[in-house]
Amino acid sequence: MKTFYVIATPIGNLEDITLRALRLFKEVDLVLCEDTRVTGKLLAKYEIKTSTMSYHAHSKIQKIDKIIEMIEDDKTLALVSDAGTPTISDPGSLLVSKLREHFGESLKIVAVPGPSALVSALSISGLSSDEFTFLGFLPHKKGRETLFKEIAESKRVVVFYESPHRILKALEKMISIFPDRRIVIAREITKIFEEVISGTPKDVQDYFLSNPSKVKGEFVVMVGA
Ligand code: SAM
Repeated sequence: MKTFYVIATPIGNLEDITLRALRLFKEVDLVLCEDTRVTGKLLAKYEIKTSTMSYHAHSKIQKIDKIIEMIEDDKTLALVSDAGTPTISDPGSLLVSKLREHFGESLKIVAVPGPSALVSALSISGLSSDEFTFLGFLPHKKGRETLFKEIAESKRVVVFYESPHRILKALEKMISIFPDRRIVIAREITKIFEEVISGTPKDVQDYFLSNPSKVKGEFVVMVGA
């Protein structure tokens, strides 16, 4: 049966890759990558020489037609993103949806699970994670204020991704909208400068203001219930 694999890859530490992912990378005909150079480093570390092709957020719709053609020609493809689980705040859901629409039952779309920053961050946060709301990246402008207000009202833990350029602004907003909620920020998970910072939004802001060199890298923000 025709199969298409959606494979999770490391979020920082290249050892965080499953045995199944490595076997499949060797077996498939082509790996679709967000950035072929990023995935190339992972494949090179494990001496895997499988061909790669780019598939990213700005890929044209014709790329999907090309991918469909390859699968019709009995090629087996895998999809990865630069880091973590494809389609989670990453490209791929349109492709998966189009593949389901085109092939129906005749294509098996298989998840090869592995890291995701969201789940990794929650697992070390100490916050109750039986239930939570994930917002991905917050909008930069329109709707941002409303979302912060929704977070303030939420009875569940709320998780979102934030860039180093906007983390201080996000903290300002949290100080003004929910100054007393406990927040936890997981930064650079699985990387050399991995750390978890927690406290009120003001505590966390103070930490970053006194440690400006830490306002870089990748952040997952979690707001306690
Ligand atoms: N698909 C990915 C996943 O499953 O985690 C997420 C991709 S999204 C484009 C990238 C965002 O995830 C970063 O801006 C950051 O918020 C978060 N992230 C990714 N790697 C991280 C890490 N090692 N430490 C903290 N946050 C990370």
